[in-house]
Amino acid sequence: SSIFAAVEMAPRDPILGLNEAFNADTRSTKVNLGVGVYFTDEGKIPLLAAVKAAEKTRLEAAPARGYQPIEGLAAYNTAVAALLFGKESPLITEGKTITVEALGGTGALKVGADYLKRLLPEAKIYISDPSWENHRALFESAGFTVENYPYYDAATRGVNFAGMKACLASLPAGAIIVLHACCHNPTGADLSDAQWAEVVAVCQERGLVPFLDMAYQGFADGIDADAVAVRAFAASGLQFFISSSFSKSFSLYGERVGALTVVCSSKEEAGRVMSQVKRVVRTNYSNPPTHGGAIVAAVLASPELRQQWEDELAGMRVRIRAMRTSLVEKLAARNVPQDFSFVIKQRGMFSYTGLSADQVERLKSEFGIYAVSTGRICLAALNTKNIDYVADAIAAVLK
Ligand code: PMP
Repeated sequence: SSIFAAVEMAPRDPILGLNEAFNADTRSTKVNLGVGVYFTDEGKIPLLAAVKAAEKTRLEAAPARGYQPIEGLAAYNTAVAALLFGKESPLITEGKTITVEALGGTGALKVGADYLKRLLPEAKIYISDPSWENHRALFESAGFTVENYPYYDAATRGVNFAGMKACLASLPAGAIIVLHACCHNPTGADLSDAQWAEVVAVCQERGLVPFLDMAYQGFADGIDADAVAVRAFAASGLQFFISSSFSKSFSLYGERVGALTVVCSSKEEAGRVMSQVKRVVRTNYSNPPTHGGAIVAAVLASPELRQQWEDELAGMRVRIRAMRTSLVEKLAARNVPQDFSFVIKQRGMFSYTGLSADQVERLKSEFGIYAVSTGRICLAALNTKNIDYVADAIAAVLK
């Protein structure tokens, strides 16, 4: 008999599975608020002008496609560290950080997880409750036990900071805590600057190992403003990990552009850590692809293209905010029983709307509007053409 005879069907991915259902839906009015992708007001995934310009230059130069080094493109890695810490950061000038190019934010998390499993084999991982759907499975697949720390407070639609802090303060030294550096996915609820300072202090007191997931730098308030958490940890003298994703901020989803950065206590230590991280990469996929990283590096190295990119990123941020305000106004105009003004305060692409799984199911079956069963919607999929339809549908399922 076949070696696969007893293989069970794995469950569908909760979010990518939604995409499949959306694609199969034949209603012309359908709207996909499920997946975390930025769409323009025309409902298209943008190809940023800065990216297009860098691609044109690269195409004209027609570079050969040799292997990259295991750690990827040096100019890219340097540029990523500068975005995270600021160009003048002593961590960079003193050589205490290492960055390796990775296959998206997911790839960066996985390389980091595999390395951490070798470094701290007995440690447990703590993720926020709730967190990005893939965090738990990803760290479990690296061999870790994954637990939650309290995060979202449904009553206030904000962060249960007292609960979060008390939990972190109870963890054993060496526990690894995954933190969303900005634009928390799925809730849109972020810590304040003062709360970040408290989290840094707890990590220091308890000897915790922070792993910051930075998938939306630039989507809340801008590149530097959105790096407050990273920079608070950078100033603390702690050792920590950061995964970066440029899927959203450069609209380069399919090119898989990300990076893993590790902050060490000295240059010499960083050299040893780099050698070990490279082993993880080498035994997984050997070295990263060329195109995406080269484009991001070219944009960030050119003052003109960098400015153009920051302007385009600001455009995405501003449009999402406009959709937040508009949705809140339109729901109020439809006399829905709840006050939705909290949607305006949430940051990034997502909102935890408070819609129940039943209401989400009705949005899908009656209106062809797809959202995650937890009530998470992606505001970046709303536009001036579909927002009235969405507001009508939400009002209908709320009544
Ligand atoms: N972390 C978080 C919090 C995310 O939201 C995402 C993307 N949705 C990722 C990591 C993964 O990013 P990428 O698509 O670049 O792998």
